[in-house]
Amino acid sequence: MDAVQHVFKGTFIHSTTRCDLEIIENHMLGTDRVGKILFFEDAQIQSRLSQKWGFDESNIQALGNNEFFMPGMIDTHIHAPQYTFIGIGMERPLLEWLEHTTFPTEDTFCDVELARNMYNTVVYDRVKPIITPRFAISCSERLLNKLGKLAEKHDLHIQSHISESPAEIKEVRRLFPDYNNYTEVYDRNKLLTNKTVMAHGCYLTNEELCVFRERGAAISHCPNSNISLCSGHLDVRNALNHRVKMGLGTDVAGGYSISLLDAIRKAIETSKIIFMERSKSERDNNETQNKQQENMKPDEVNEDTQNGPMKTENNHNVLSYKEAFWLATLGGSEALGIDHITGNFKVGKEFDALIINPEAKDSPFEVNSHVSKEEMLQRFLYLGDDRNIKSVYVAGICVVPFPSNT
Ligand SMILES: [Zn+2]
Repeated sequence: MDAVQHVFKGTFIHSTTRCDLEIIENHMLGTDRVGKILFFEDAQIQSRLSQKWGFDESNIQALGNNEFFMPGMIDTHIHAPQYTFIGIGMERPLLEWLEHTTFPTEDTFCDVELARNMYNTVVYDRVKPIITPRFAISCSERLLNKLGKLAEKHDLHIQSHISESPAEIKEVRRLFPDYNNYTEVYDRNKLLTNKTVMAHGCYLTNEELCVFRERGAAISHCPNSNISLCSGHLDVRNALNHRVKMGLGTDVAGGYSISLLDAIRKAIETSKIIFMERSKSERDNNETQNKQQENMKPDEVNEDTQNGPMKTENNHNVLSYKEAFWLATLGGSEALGIDHITGNFKVGKEFDALIINPEAKDSPFEVNSHVSKEEMLQRFLYLGDDRNIKSVYVAGICVVPFPSNT
């Protein structure tokens, strides 16, 4: 066991670049002394693995029958200073909420001790410097320009907000009349790079999404916040079709939940709401057309509209739970540009993982022996909570339960 820190055996569920959901049963995964994945192989070759890596049966941590590993989930957008007022002031729209609730609280963070305590509560170790203009409204063109140059000079990550609410976009148009759109405000000032993550993007046009793809910039989809502040909906399917990098964000405290499980559920629900709205507007359009046609002579009736009703119901193209799982894990790591470090169980990456126990004491859902691993994952994603998360590993270190409690 000189080179090996942990050896795990059981079921692993993750996403790959080719597949949203891969369920790998009866496998063994070993980590090295710095928490990187050394091997990930079929358990049928256990004896060969134990010879090669120098471990024996007693070193193996085997999962229970229905337990499984999944990658740690990645929150691509959260405000540490806003954690203090999570769940408060959700009645206001974005700009009012910022004015009344957010800015006054954030002002108190000039107290360094207060700031240190809060950041230690919310933020984990993997912190890198990142250029963070709040959003275009709070910046002058000169400031944006200097921040872009700073990011370029030091090759820094960049994060901000974009096209979150109609009132915000209107204000950006007023403040930056020389720019064609919101995306151009960041892009022309060198703030849209392959190290950029922009939160929301609910109202980005197809043209703007193309610029995101060309620059390699990512969107953090924050559905809880978008609903809570009545900002809008991001059409995830359309952004994915444009091949824009994307992950999920809680956007605490615009979003009231700190849980990525909540973000997964709301991302799926948002996609379904968009689908229903679109179906309704198509039905309404068809009805209007049909009424118009009733008043037409037969030879004036357009064949296209006769054959076209309810097209979207045959094309139920909503975000699947598998895609939402991918967004919360590998998609998030790609959005943050850390997919070479984390996001799935690939040899050489750090071992960031959760052990999920669907049969935990007080589990909010039930399983029986007929339920497959895939169904268990679905139930966990839709119904599960912290009670089902038996352990959390970050870079090979078990951080939950805390070592003192084990
Ligand atoms: Zn935000």
